[in-house]
Amino acid sequence: MTSLDSFTQGALQAMRDAHTYRTMRCIDSPEASHVKIKDDVILLASNSYLDLCNEPTLKSYAAKAVLKWGTGSGGARLTTGNKTPHEELEQVIANFKGEEAALTFGTGYMANVGTISALCSKQVNASGTVSECIVFSDELNHASIIDGIRLSKAKCYVYKHNDMADLERAICEARKNDDKQNLNRYFIVTDAVFSMDGDLANLPELQKIARKHNALLMIDEAHATGVIGKTGRGLAEYFNDCKIPCEHADVTVGTLSKAVGCEGGFVVGKKQLIEFLRNKARSFIFTTAMSPAMAQAAANNLTFIATHPERVQHLQENVNLFCKALEIEGIKAASNDVHSAIIPIIIGDEELALEISNKLLEKGILIPAIRYPTVAKGKARLRASLMATHTKEDLEYAAKTIATIYLTLTKKH
Ligand SMILES: *Cc1c(COP(=O)(O)O)cnc(C)c1O
Repeated sequence: MTSLDSFTQGALQAMRDAHTYRTMRCIDSPEASHVKIKDDVILLASNSYLDLCNEPTLKSYAAKAVLKWGTGSGGARLTTGNKTPHEELEQVIANFKGEEAALTFGTGYMANVGTISALCSKQVNASGTVSECIVFSDELNHASIIDGIRLSKAKCYVYKHNDMADLERAICEARKNDDKQNLNRYFIVTDAVFSMDGDLANLPELQKIARKHNALLMIDEAHATGVIGKTGRGLAEYFNDCKIPCEHADVTVGTLSKAVGCEGGFVVGKKQLIEFLRNKARSFIFTTAMSPAMAQAAANNLTFIATHPERVQHLQENVNLFCKALEIEGIKAASNDVHSAIIPIIIGDEELALEISNKLLEKGILIPAIRYPTVAKGKARLRASLMATHTKEDLEYAAKTIATIYLTLTKKH
C-alpha cells in the first residue's frame, strides 16, 4: 500500500470507529419543505428558511437573469468580473441591513475568512510601527470564523459560550499580557445565531463590553438574516423589537445561501470598512466574481424578503408551533425561548442520535443527527430547522413521530 492509501484508510477507520464517519445523501428534487429521496419526505433540515430556493416567481427571474447576463462572470471583481448586478446587489444588501455599504464574496465562508484575516493581521504603519490584533472568539463560533482567525495569525482568546463575564475576564487577562496596549486592536467576534444550538448572541451586552474595553465587534448573521427580528433584518432589529436598545456591530457578515436562497456571502458596515476589505480581503481579490445572474437572483430574493415580511412571520409562527408541539409530546427543544429557525433536540450519544435520525427517515421525515466533530463529543443531537412553508400538519406529524421514536429507543437503550 502507498503511504497515501494507508494514511487515508487509517483516518477513515478511526472515524468509522467513533461513529463520526460522514456520507452524503442525494436529494432528487429542488430544496423545498418536502423533497424527494425515494418517496416524498418532509425536509426539516434546510437552511432555506423562507423556502426561496424554489419560489416560482423568483426562479423565473433567475432564469431571465441567466439569459441576460450569461452563465459566468469571467473574471475577478477587480479585473473584468464586476458587472452591474454585483453593484446593485451590494446596494440592496446595504439598504436591507440599514448600513452604509456592502461587499459580496463567493460564499459566507469566504466572507468570514477574508474579512477576519484582513482585519486581524499584523499591521505596519507608515512610520514602521507594528500593531497587532487580539481576538476574542465564542467557543461555539462557526468553522469559517475559526479559520479566519487562524489565517490572521492573531493571538486568540476563546471565551465560554455566550458567557459575558468570561469574555470580560479574557479581555482583562489579555490587557495584562499586552505590552503594546495603546497600539494593538482588540476584536470580539461571534455568531449571531449559533448554528448548532440556535441560540442568540447577546448583542446589547457585547456592545457594552466592546465600548468599555475599546474593542471592535463583529457578528456573523448567517442564520439571522431573513429569520431574526420582525422583518428579518437580524439581531439588532430583534433586540430593538424587545425594547432593548441596540446598534449595529462594527462589522456584520452574512450569507446569501440560507434564508435568501441563493449563493454568496457579504459584509456590511461603514463605507471605509468596505473600501478597506475591497483592497485587503484575499478571498475577495483572488477569486472569480460570483456569476452576475446569481448576483441578480440574490438581489431579487432579498427584495422579495423586504417586501414580504409575512413570510418571515410565518417562519416565526412555525417555530413557536413546532416547539409547543414537541413540548406537548414531552420533548424539550433546547432553544424554545428564542426565535431562530434552528431547533436542536439534544440526544447525547452519537449512535443513538444516528439511529433516531434513520428511523425518522423511514417515517418520511428528514432531520439529521449532528455529531462530533461538528458538536462536542457526547452532545449529539437531532437538529431540526424549519421553513416558512411547512404546514401545521407537517410539524405536528413530525413532533409526534420524533417523540414516539425517541421514547421507544431510550427505553430500549
Ligand atoms: C453557513 C454559515 C457560514 C457559511 O456560509 P456559506 O455561504 O454557506 O459559505 C458562515 N457562518 C455561519 C455561522 C454559518 O452558519
